[in-house]
Amino acid sequence: MHELGIASEIVSVVTDALNNQSIGRPVKKIRLTIGEMRQIVPDSLQFCFDSLTRDTLLENARLEIRHIPLSGTCSSCGREIEFTEPPFRCPDCSGTEMQMQHGFELDVTSFEVED
Ligand SMILES: [Zn+2]
Repeated sequence: MHELGIASEIVSVVTDALNNQSIGRPVKKIRLTIGEMRQIVPDSLQFCFDSLTRDTLLENARLEIRHIPLSGTCSSCGREIEFTEPPFRCPDCSGTEMQMQHGFELDVTSFEVED
């Protein structure tokens, strides 16, 4: 279950931020930006996150995920394309060589703590 590794990344990023800013209040929401290629199952990510954060300031935090679709630029004609499913082919020139630009993101965008 690769969500576990990702959940532990998120926990360490947010925990570091709390420590660096000396925030001692519980976290209620964590916003994430996750590319489609990461193939995250949100429920399973939340489940792993919950199991890692028991008895910490993060224990009741909800994960809010913004999904970024896979997209790139055609190497032949430069058209920007958003991909839904393979085969990945340029609709203009039928080129198959793409430079992928989005879809691999995995970022903690922001988080909210209790007042
Ligand atoms: Zn093209």
